Amino acid sequence: MKRVTLLGSTGSIGESALDLIGRGGFRVEAVTGGRNLARLAEQAVETGAALAVTCFSECYEELAARLEGTDVEVAAGPDAVAQAAGRPADLVLNGIVGAAGLQPSLAALTAGSTLALANKESLVCAGPLVMATAARHGGRVLPVDSEHSAVFQALVGEDIGAVERVVITASGGAFRDWPLEEIARATPEQAATHPNWDMGQRITIDSASMFNKALEVIEAHEFFGLAPEQIEVLVHPQSAVHALVGFVDGAMMAHLGAPDMRHAIGYALNWPERAALPVDRLDLAALGRLDFATPDPARYPALGLAWEVMRAGGLMGAVFNAAKEAALDGFLDRRIGFADMARIVERVMGRMASQTGLNNDMMSLDNVLQADQMARQLAREAMAEAKEATG
Ligand code: NAD
Ligand code: MG
Repeated sequence: MKRVTLLGSTGSIGESALDLIGRGGFRVEAVTGGRNLARLAEQAVETGAALAVTCFSECYEELAARLEGTDVEVAAGPDAVAQAAGRPADLVLNGIVGAAGLQPSLAALTAGSTLALANKESLVCAGPLVMATAARHGGRVLPVDSEHSAVFQALVGEDIGAVERVVITASGGAFRDWPLEEIARATPEQAATHPNWDMGQRITIDSASMFNKALEVIEAHEFFGLAPEQIEVLVHPQSAVHALVGFVDGAMMAHLGAPDMRHAIGYALNWPERAALPVDRLDLAALGRLDFATPDPARYPALGLAWEVMRAGGLMGAVFNAAKEAALDGFLDRRIGFADMARIVERVMGRMASQTGLNNDMMSLDNVLQADQMARQLAREAMAEAKEATG
């Protein structure tokens, strides 16, 4: 029995993980969520978890009331989430959305646990710190993002030195086939639909803008230690091929599967073994064809920013992610338009450029959080200015 802690258990990744865990072979140590306290309490009881945590301090009373009379311990607040991550476990699955996932990732690795990482923001904001923390405490990071799980699987038995390039695929998101001039007027509801994957609201909108793919390019750079020019993105509307690895001898290894996150989650949960998974099998004959195209920079201006982030290094990843999160909040609140998000983030990166330089070994949680706060503030200012300019 593997002992597993689920961070963000009430989200899309968390629920998919619980679907697999409920089929046996695992024991749940702790579950953490947000405001969906009814579901969080239900999960704690159903799995027999020792601890349930909400990240919102003000939700403590209600969660405690819902779990009264059970053996489940209750806690609340961001520190309690990090403490839950640091409890002894074989595996900690981080399915928190946003930079809030960073401290829990570090806590899990500091405790020596294996970290199954869906929270790509941990690596984007502080890749060198996360990987160094894993190395120092003998912990390990397993990718759960589908593209990175695909690369990881294609690399089994291979020498990373023999890798020439890595290609990650993108579905193209909600606006893949929209006329360019209409994309600027798109609403949050329109952006929150996805042609192939069923995911949380924020990552779905990030897929339409390709901010998600930009995060994933940086994630691949940090996780696999690839140079920026070794990473490519192709639009692949069928979402059957999740990634390809090209080797120095010209061979390419592709990973294919149905677009179902339970594959990547299940691979990490069962690693280093493979277990049978209840996911659809690909019917290639029914699919008939696999299409690939280079992403159009005019349609996806956010994607190119990833290479600027990687070239700048240091704290630019934290700045990029924080500005993106603030701009996404602005779009969801209808303070800015869909196309403004990339402009805002680029402007914040420009303003912070002189302050992000840093050797990897100087990166600390403190300076990452400071860069994050400054970038959010600058993004809010840039959004207010943009609003004034358009009246
Ligand atoms: P979601 O919005 O469905 O769920 C997020 C979870 O995090 C919820 O349990 C929520 O309560 C919790 N949470 C929210 N804010 C928090 C905070 N400040 N502190 C602690 N917990 C908080 O999100 P999701 O789609 O499951 O995505 C989770 C992560 O996995 C993201 O980093 C996303 O990019 C990544 N990911 C998701 C998918 C997918 O299919 N959904 C695929 C690949 C990667
Ligand atoms: Mg992905």
